[in-house]
This record gives sequence, structure tokens and C-alpha cells, in this order.
Amino acid sequence: MKTAEQAKLTTAQRTYRKHRRRHIEVVMASHRKGAPGYEKHLKAQKLYYERHRDERVEYARDFYRKNAKRLSRNTAAFKGHVRRTVRAYLGNKCVCCGVMEQEFLSVDHVRNNGAKHRREKGREAWMWEVWKAIKEKRIVTDYQLMCFNCNFSKHFGKGVCVHKRRAAKEAK
Ligand SMILES: [Zn+2]
Ligand SMILES: [Zn+2]
Repeated sequence: MKTAEQAKLTTAQRTYRKHRRRHIEVVMASHRKGAPGYEKHLKAQKLYYERHRDERVEYARDFYRKNAKRLSRNTAAFKGHVRRTVRAYLGNKCVCCGVMEQEFLSVDHVRNNGAKHRREKGREAWMWEVWKAIKEKRIVTDYQLMCFNCNFSKHFGKGVCVHKRRAAKEAK
């Protein structure tokens, strides 16, 4: 189906766009790791950078200086979006007691490997991991949302929160 914008184009414009798209594909493909010509591309890039190092450094510095506010705002906004998406995916409430106040909630490593994970991959690694899984439509079973009380109680009670311990006791 043609969009209104496409219908307005002349044949020459359409041909040009098609060619342009194809050209971009070819260029992108040769820049992909492992593609024929990739090594050559890398070398050329490196050479270019070496020859223009000062300019490039200056340009980059300038760019960040000029756009610092916008860039950090974008990063913060994106992070917020990721955090909200991940929390929503994990249910937005404590898996044990159902508390929904965001301030009370933290991410719990189901297999209790949180400290190790944070040490190895960084404080917010879980967030990016779940985000990636959501994007790839994988099911996440390593993380859950838990309030601080349940979380603490879970560690105290060797993996089971007092709520669950009490429930198990009463069931007997
Ligand atoms: Zn709870
Ligand atoms: Zn609990």
C-alpha cells in the first residue's frame, strides 16, 4: 500500500529513494562485523581518526558541552521509561504481600544471587537484563518485585518470608 506521501513522488524521486535505500544497506552490510571488507573499513576508520584526531576530539567535546543538558535529560528519561516498563512487567507490586507503594518495592533476585550479580554486573544490571528480555519476548523468571519487609524477612527466614512461613504453619 502506498502512503499519500509516496503517491506524490515522481518516478525519478522514487527511483532515487530506492537506490539510496539499497546503497545504505550495502554500506551498512559491509560495516557489519565479519562482513567482507569489514577489516578494510575498520582500518580506514582508524586511519581517518588518527589523521583527524584533534578535530574529532574537539568536535566531540563541543557536542557534549552544547548538548549536555539535552543528553542527560534524554538518558534520565529513557532510564525512567525502562524502570517503569520493567516494574510493570514484574507486576508493580510485592509478589508476597501485594504492597503497591513504589517506595516500598525493590527487585528481588529469585535465586538469591543479588549481591554477586550486583558485584559483577553493576547495581542496575537487573533492569537492563529484564528490559532486554522483554524486548526479545523472553520470559523472565530470575527477578520479582518485593517490598523491603518481605525481602528482609525472606533473607532472615532462609528464602521464605514470614508471611509464607506463617501460612505454612497454619496449614498444618
Ligand atoms: Zn511484601
Ligand atoms: Zn511477605
